[in-house]
Amino acid sequence: MRSKSLALSGWGRFPQTKTAAFRPERMSEVAACLKSDGTMLARGAGRSYGDQALNSAGAVLLTERLDRFLGLETGDAPLLTVEAGVSWGRSSAC
Ligand SMILES: Cc1cc2nc3c(=O)[nH]c(=O)nc-3n(C[C@H](O)[C@H](O)[C@H](O)COP(=O)(O)OP(=O)(O)OC[C@H]3O[C@@H](n4cnc5c(N)ncnc54)[C@H](O)[C@@H]3O)c2cc1C
Repeated sequence: MRSKSLALSGWGRFPQTKTAAFRPERMSEVAACLKSDGTMLARGAGRSYGDQALNSAGAVLLTERLDRFLGLETGDAPLLTVEAGVSWGRSSAC
């Protein structure tokens, strides 16, 4: 899978770092992203304030398109299993 160079920052908009970014559409594509050289950092919604979701020394894995609900176990303690890119904000619009 090919990466794209993106200028990323956290919620605080500082610092901003140009980073090789992978944006897999499916979990099956994640393994190919991990074969790239250097370190890889997962990035969720990018809402942390500082540089927690930046990786100037390597690449980031954007999880936003991994946004599927995988399963729901009902019962006394219901359990919803989702992919890493699910956000409650986007899901509540469904
Ligand atoms: C307006 C606002 C209000 C907030 N209020 C609160 C609050 O009330 N309470 C609170 O606790 N926090 C709060 N936060 C902080 C926010 O919840 C955290 O920073 C949270 O980590 C953001 O999630 P994210 O998915 O955007 O993470 P990102 O910023 O994308 O990533 C944060 C860290 O998590 C790692 N990470 C992300 N996804 C994965 C993954 N799938 N696997 C492994 N590691 C991963 C990243 O590598 C990075 O190190 C607030 C933030 C904002 C902007």
